[in-house]
Amino acid sequence: MKPFRFFQPVAPADAGMQPGRRHFLALSASGAVLAATGLGAGALLTAAPVRAVNTQARIVIVGAGAAGISLASRLSSGLDGAHITLIDSREAHYYQPGLTLVATGAWNASRVVDSNSRYIPSGVTWIKERIQEFDPDNNRVYTESGRGVDYDYLLVATGLKLDFDAIEGMDPGLIGSHGIGCVYDNPDHAARTWQAIERFTRTGGVGLFTRAPGAIKCAGAPLKITMLTEHGLRRAGNRANAELHYFQPDRSLFSQPDMDEFLKEHFPQDRGIAVNWEHRFTAIDPGRREATFATDDGERTLGYDFIHVVPPMTAPDSVRNSALASEEPAFAGWLEVDRYTMQHRRYPNVFGAGDVVGTPIGKTAASVKAQVPVAATNLISLIAGREMTARYNGYTSCPLITERGRGILVEFDYDLNMVPSFGFISPYEEHWVPWLMKDRMLHAAYNAMLRGRI
Ligand SMILES: Cc1cc2nc3c(=O)[nH]c(=O)nc-3n(C[C@H](O)[C@H](O)[C@H](O)COP(=O)(O)OP(=O)(O)OC[C@H]3O[C@@H](n4cnc5c(N)ncnc54)[C@H](O)[C@@H]3O)c2cc1C
Repeated sequence: MKPFRFFQPVAPADAGMQPGRRHFLALSASGAVLAATGLGAGALLTAAPVRAVNTQARIVIVGAGAAGISLASRLSSGLDGAHITLIDSREAHYYQPGLTLVATGAWNASRVVDSNSRYIPSGVTWIKERIQEFDPDNNRVYTESGRGVDYDYLLVATGLKLDFDAIEGMDPGLIGSHGIGCVYDNPDHAARTWQAIERFTRTGGVGLFTRAPGAIKCAGAPLKITMLTEHGLRRAGNRANAELHYFQPDRSLFSQPDMDEFLKEHFPQDRGIAVNWEHRFTAIDPGRREATFATDDGERTLGYDFIHVVPPMTAPDSVRNSALASEEPAFAGWLEVDRYTMQHRRYPNVFGAGDVVGTPIGKTAASVKAQVPVAATNLISLIAGREMTARYNGYTSCPLITERGRGILVEFDYDLNMVPSFGFISPYEEHWVPWLMKDRMLHAAYNAMLRGRI
């Protein structure tokens, strides 16, 4: 095993509170850092404050996750007299960016579980049901109980569906047993994933880390789990007893090309992780602890002691099977929006934000933060009869945690240009700032986003 040299560390992982960190935290308390982090950046894209517009419009928002609640907050303050209805049966709110920290033992699961009722603004009607059918030709949605809800304007914020069924033999109930982990599902399953990883760091053996093809939320998470498990093995003094394999369905580790090149050089060599290109995870046999991959040379089946499962992700069926879905091959099934205005391309009274939209970049809370003010501002302009001027530039951000205490911060836009928030750290340098952001700061920024404050 090569000695570990990922990137040049700026501060030791277990260093105490250094002056730099103290200064950084003081800045964050003042709000200056939050305004420049991924979750604050959206505000910079659409700086113009919106004056409350008088209207009696009926506005329906489907989905009460990160995007849906943030939209409800922004529209409540931007409109006067509107009838805003939020539809989602889920009462618990999951802070999903924290799931990585739960699945790697840094946080307890309870830390990421909150309640939607704490964030839904007063005056917004909450229908605790799921939408079964969208009927945009008649400006109506139907809930699973068959109730029809009419609207003048619709905002779709349903997030995405984890398609575990696409992997033969896989069931989310297996997470935490048979050496199976998955960071993506829910806080309980993330905690079980940590138990499985923790066991693996003690026993060693063969660890397999998969990545689904196509668009997935927080596309850095499969890499983060791999690197944090590798670090866990080193911390347990057991790295030499483990063999780690990462499976990539295509030939790219990251969508931003410079970061892709950088990771291709450092991830396998410095961490001793074998990358298996063009391997699509298709089946699992939990009893035998075997995983099967489709490759150009046929099927390949491998035994494992631990496997991190990343299921394919699609738009929820209610969106995918509706007239709102895109038919464009690159975005098939996702909500068809204009990538800059967030307005539906065929139904002008429909907007979208969050994981469900078919944009080339996105599917992070950071992109939700950038998209929501655009969708809300443009909808308010439409209602007021003004020109829609707000634009989403594709901003997304990934605090790519490389080990406990360190990470790299990757931020880019539709043009795949790096747009770093902090001039003093390079996206190609492992640093304590992305860890501190992830561990201590982004949750507060996320909650402020839900309340429409940033
Ligand atoms: C493990 C992990 C790590 C992550 N790390 C980061 C990170 O470091 N940084 C970052 O910026 N982002 C990160 N993300 C991504 C981020 O959490 C998501 O992009 C964001 O939560 C998406 O918000 P959303 O509102 O679109 O979807 P969600 O927050 O998932 O909400 C969707 C809501 O829609 C509801 N819904 C679905 N279907 C229906 C229906 N038919 N009717 C009514 N309601 C419906 C659901 O119940 C849910 O409440 C991470 C995600 C995961 C899973």
